[in-house]
Formats: sequence, C-alpha cells, structure tokens
Amino acid sequence: MKVLVAVKRVVDYNVKVRVKADGTGVDLANVKMSMNPFDEIAVEEAVRLKEAGVVTEVIAVSCGVAQCQETLRTAMAIGADRGILVESNEDLQPLAVAKLLKALIDKEQPQLVILGKQAIDDDSNQTGQMVAALAGLPQATFASKVVVADEGGQKRASVTREVDGGLETLSLKLPAVVTTDLRLNEPRYVTLPNIMKAKKKQLDTVKPEDLGVDVKPRLSTVRVVEPAKRSAGVMVPDVATLVQKLKNEAKVI
Ligand code: AMP
Repeated sequence: MKVLVAVKRVVDYNVKVRVKADGTGVDLANVKMSMNPFDEIAVEEAVRLKEAGVVTEVIAVSCGVAQCQETLRTAMAIGADRGILVESNEDLQPLAVAKLLKALIDKEQPQLVILGKQAIDDDSNQTGQMVAALAGLPQATFASKVVVADEGGQKRASVTREVDGGLETLSLKLPAVVTTDLRLNEPRYVTLPNIMKAKKKQLDTVKPEDLGVDVKPRLSTVRVVEPAKRSAGVMVPDVATLVQKLKNEAKVI
C-alpha cells in the first residue's frame, strides 16, 4: 500500500522570527528554512511502516516555491521513495494546500495520508482536517501511535490520540488521513549516504493548474505584530515579600 506524506518548508524552529517592518508578515529573507518538525515525524512514521513491511511506497509531497525541493530531498533521505513538488509562488493557504493534496490523492490513490498536526509558521492546524473533508476520508488527528492491521480482508488503522482526559484510540477504515503529534516517534538523523541516495530518487514537479486547482488566497492578513516585550523582573529579599507580592500585586494567590 502507498502512503502520501505532506511536508512543508518552514522557518527553522531554532530561528528567532522577525516581523517585517511594514507589519505584513514574517521576514523570510536570508532565514534558515527546514522541514516542519511535525512533518519529519510524519515521514518517519511512514518510513517505519515501510520498514515493518506494511507499506510498499512512501511519496512525499510539498507545495510551494522551487526550494521546497530541498525539503523533499530531506524526506527522501529519511526514507521516502519519491517526491512530488507542487510548484507555486503564491501564498498557499491551508485550503489551497488541501485542494492540491486532494487532487494528488485522486491521482495516486494512497491508503494512508499523513500530515503534521500543524505547521509551525502559521500554526493553522487546518490542512489535514480539510484534506479529509475534501477527499471524504476518515481522519484521526494528533496521533501518538499508529498501527495498521488487516481485519477480515479490510485494512484498518488503529490510532491513539492524546486528549485532555488521557488516551483515545480510534479505529479507521483505510484509506484515511492521520495527523501527527509530537510523541508519535523520534525522527532519525539523516545520514550522508542517505542524503546522497536521495539525490538520485525521483522528484516530479507539477503546477496547481496541472491539477486543476485554483490556489488564489482567500484570506488576507490584516496585521502581524511581535509579541509584547516582557518587562524586567524584580528581586525580592525573602519568601514573605514574594508571597505578599503574589497576593497583592500579581493577585494570583
Ligand atoms: P497547517 O494546517 O498549515 O498548520 O499545516 C498542517 C500540515 O499540513 C503540515 O504539518 C503539513 O503536513 C501540511 N501542509 C501545510 N502546508 C503545506 C505545504 N505548503 N506543503 C506540504 N504540506 C503542507
């Protein structure tokens, strides 16, 4: 069975982001970009399923500018078999990405589609849910464990999710959409030989028009501002003063 994994190129999680002077967005000039951390977990999970003999092919998909090829090469260095770049210079919002992924699902017919639960740049947490809705597939979001099993000739995924009250386990008929949470796995480090091997793997490029998808943005950003600066702390001489301040000034006890 095939697995389709969505990988987004985002600002590296170690970079301290700066807002553009005109407040229209985040400054991406000369900033290190990497694969969205939740998507690394998604690729790792797909590759582990392949290593376990459950999956036969792992296809990584990235939507965005030409440099997303690097993100796809990283996915292939982790172990994805091939990559598809949906190339566009538009600002691709979650609905547009979901439509592109739906078009690729129709084409590739994967049994499992794995996405990150959210992209750390826009924190939308929407794409997986929208893909499931558009493709009419069952979904399990925020997965912390995924087990695929054959039940009477029908493949199903048992997905454990961390919810406020504990752990919830869902059973989904495949094909299905799963989004990854942090504790699903710990992605492997990519090794140099695998980076070299990834360079030879198949990477196809398509345009949104080839998939018949209109990716024009539907939402406009009104303003982006930096978080408020934290004010300096004060040193207190003793516990009694601390308690008094927490009680009377901060009013938290
Ligand atoms: P979001 O809904 O933007 O928080 O993103 C959730 C997940 O959707 C990400 O972790 C990716 O797996 C996938 N995704 C979002 N945008 C893209 C993109 N441009 N290319 C590939 N995958 C994406």
